[in-house]
Amino acid sequence: MTFRTHKISPITMRRRVLEAVKPIGFEVIPIEKARGRILGETVKSTRPSPQMDCSMMDGFALNHRSIRYATRKLPVRLPVVGEIGAGQRMRRALGHNEAVRIMTGAPLPEGADCVVRLEDTKSNGHAVLISNPTEKFEHVRLAGSEFKSGQVILKPGTAIGAAEMAMLAYLDHPRVQVYRRPRVGLISTGDELGAVGKKRPYGHIPDSNRYALLGLVESAGCEPIDGGRVGDDAEELWRKLTELRRQADFIITSGGVSAGDRDVVKLLFARRGQVDLYRLPMKPGKPQAFGRIGRTPFFGLPGNPVSAMVVFDLIIRPALRKLAGAARVDSPQWTATVTKTFPRKSRDWEFPRAIAVEKNGHWEVSPAQSQQSSNIQSMTGADGYLVLSPTSPTAVKGAKVLFMPRSI
Ligand code: AMP
Ligand code: MG
Repeated sequence: MTFRTHKISPITMRRRVLEAVKPIGFEVIPIEKARGRILGETVKSTRPSPQMDCSMMDGFALNHRSIRYATRKLPVRLPVVGEIGAGQRMRRALGHNEAVRIMTGAPLPEGADCVVRLEDTKSNGHAVLISNPTEKFEHVRLAGSEFKSGQVILKPGTAIGAAEMAMLAYLDHPRVQVYRRPRVGLISTGDELGAVGKKRPYGHIPDSNRYALLGLVESAGCEPIDGGRVGDDAEELWRKLTELRRQADFIITSGGVSAGDRDVVKLLFARRGQVDLYRLPMKPGKPQAFGRIGRTPFFGLPGNPVSAMVVFDLIIRPALRKLAGAARVDSPQWTATVTKTFPRKSRDWEFPRAIAVEKNGHWEVSPAQSQQSSNIQSMTGADGYLVLSPTSPTAVKGAKVLFMPRSI
């Protein structure tokens, strides 16, 4: 049997998967449940912010003209006619040569146009001494200065974090339309895989990839559907896949995509089509499969634990972010300086695991202790990877390179 394999760059692969997905619809949820979700509506203000002129400081509200001629030698003395706390309102307008004690966030009374900070005054409670003039609107948050009524404040595709939850609350928007969370089916393949914490036959290993993928799918803002594990049996895999397909918006398997004659994903799709096999010029993560099962996008990850995680981050994660509705799909990449040379092994794309430390606002990277794609420690002992293209200069000591933090 022969298999057609495609040789494309990881960039092309990333784009191919990205282009195969689109968001799956909306739901409305309370904002306290919205962290990690993606906004699915345009949120506009329905009032100006702040609603009225407010004090930004603890101090005295007054009219700036009343202290126009204040000097250190001849301070101006104004009677203090009351006190306004946050949420309180002064019943009358402030007279021209009067001051009122005012707290941070309290509405400015009519007649006042500035606030003098408490620490810039002397006061005995009945009167206040001010020895410097100040400007109109000094220490005042003017009505509508942050935003006006009817302004777009949050756009669809925004990832909702703590600040967005606060903004939605501030806008009196207790329920919010978000994109539905995509469901991602996961299956591990391999005769050698066993359950975690159970006795296993000689040479068998725990199915650790499924746990990596449960975590990665969740951290991409999707809901994992645990499809368990199957042996190297194409019929069994097909049954599981057709079952999962009904519930999942995207399916990921691990293992069985290499050149071996027991590589079950490869065998299955050689028979049933719709999925292409790839050998990408990248380390780790060379063998991959991508296509559809029915209408559901399907990605076959290599089985090596580190390869699976790196390929997920680089190629699958952007597509899952798009599927989840996010406008920004890529993880950040930072420029960093190499402090210890990374040995270059090939002219392929390489993603060596790196330890990153921040020094005076600058990132420095050095190789993680293990670079083996079979060794999960090469991930637990690393903060992320370097992104080295075939044409990037070698990552020798002192070189500037691109670093990408791994998903957690
Ligand atoms: P494969 O891609 O199926 O040839 O697997 C490559 C290597 O990854 C083999 O050493 C497998 O034992 C290992 N492997 C495959 N699947 C898993 C898994 N789910 N968890 C941990 N290791 C795996
Ligand atoms: Mg296998």
